[in-house]
Amino acid sequence: MDIQRIREDFPILNRTIYGKPLIYFDNGATTQKPRVVVDSLVNEYYSVNANVHRGVHYLSQQATELHEASRETVRQFINAQSTNEIVFTRGTTESINLLASTFGEAFMKEGDEVIVSVMEHHSNIVPWQLLANRKGISIKVIPMNDCGELMLDEYKKLFSNRTKIVSIVQVSNVLGTVNPVKEMIRIAHAHGVPCLIDAAQSIPHMKVDVQELDADFLVFSGHKIYGPTGIGVLFGKEEWLDKLPPYQGGGEMIQHVSFEKTTFNELPFKFEAGTPDYIGTTGLAKALDYVSNIGIEQIANYEQELTEYALKRLYEIPDMHIFGKAADRGSVISFQVGNIHHFDLGTLLDRLGIAVRTGHHCAQPLMQRLGIEGTVRASFGLYNTKEEVDQLIMGIERIRNMFN
Ligand code: PMP
Repeated sequence: MDIQRIREDFPILNRTIYGKPLIYFDNGATTQKPRVVVDSLVNEYYSVNANVHRGVHYLSQQATELHEASRETVRQFINAQSTNEIVFTRGTTESINLLASTFGEAFMKEGDEVIVSVMEHHSNIVPWQLLANRKGISIKVIPMNDCGELMLDEYKKLFSNRTKIVSIVQVSNVLGTVNPVKEMIRIAHAHGVPCLIDAAQSIPHMKVDVQELDADFLVFSGHKIYGPTGIGVLFGKEEWLDKLPPYQGGGEMIQHVSFEKTTFNELPFKFEAGTPDYIGTTGLAKALDYVSNIGIEQIANYEQELTEYALKRLYEIPDMHIFGKAADRGSVISFQVGNIHHFDLGTLLDRLGIAVRTGHHCAQPLMQRLGIEGTVRASFGLYNTKEEVDQLIMGIERIRNMFN
């Protein structure tokens, strides 16, 4: 991978912050956008813009073609069987809410159970809690060991004849742990239970193939994979999506409406009420093409090497505490240094032009499990370099000396 050439695709990387070159290590929160993505948004607004699906006129048909071609790009990217299985949403959060709401409505009743893990993002906890409040279901939690790996023996024990769905994250946004989701899906299926995979932190960094995983549902956000904000995906096996009721009501999702009886549109439109973000879907497709052109395997290998380098260098710092020592881990590193508050460390790194995230990372139950309030988190993307990691190390050393 020619990183210098790749970096030129991302205009923001030329910015300075407090007079220092920007070092952007907050990719877990959102990624920067290559020119092709931003250009596609601007160009579509300037030259194609028209509402999709309902127009006979030229622009509307062109916009519809672009929008549906983007669905096909997503299908190929995750190797779904059909575009009927690709539902556009606002992002991971909306995808999980859609699923919890409709699946809960169709298949869960009081006393039923959902299995999640202790390392879930709030967006894979709270939708199930809302459902629990509405329906009286209960939530079972897969524990982890001290390395930050889910305990599969405990997972197996959580199943009962009331278990209706498993919903788990593929890569932790705090620990970087890559969970063995293929095996976990297999275990769920052996109990006749479907499985939702939160791929928000995996899809930008590794090959995600829904057929290979045999995932029933899989969700992700465009903005974490170099695409625009406000667009995301819910993949669902057609046989499952067919059985679920609509989520929101409105235009597009209907076949016929009368005050006596309304019938719903076919998949995937049944779940896409209202005008979709058809500009965003084009941008998402451009982002996926951008990643595919570089090669997701190449990106994975490069980020793996960068992460190993960063871990090695971080461990050279005295008082360094890294959370998450899973054997299989991705390019997210959470840490604390001595008694320095994570907020102070993050703020001072920012003064050096280094953007990291601090806090609980929307995973408070995981913080409780770790017995901490927060961490500093550095998360890498395909444009980060070893030189930037060296700057991070120098920055931490400097701040550490200040505090000592
Ligand atoms: N799940 C995980 C694992 C995440 O890291 C995030 C974003 N931090 C989300 C879900 C929520 O994604 P979004 O805010 O794009 O809906």
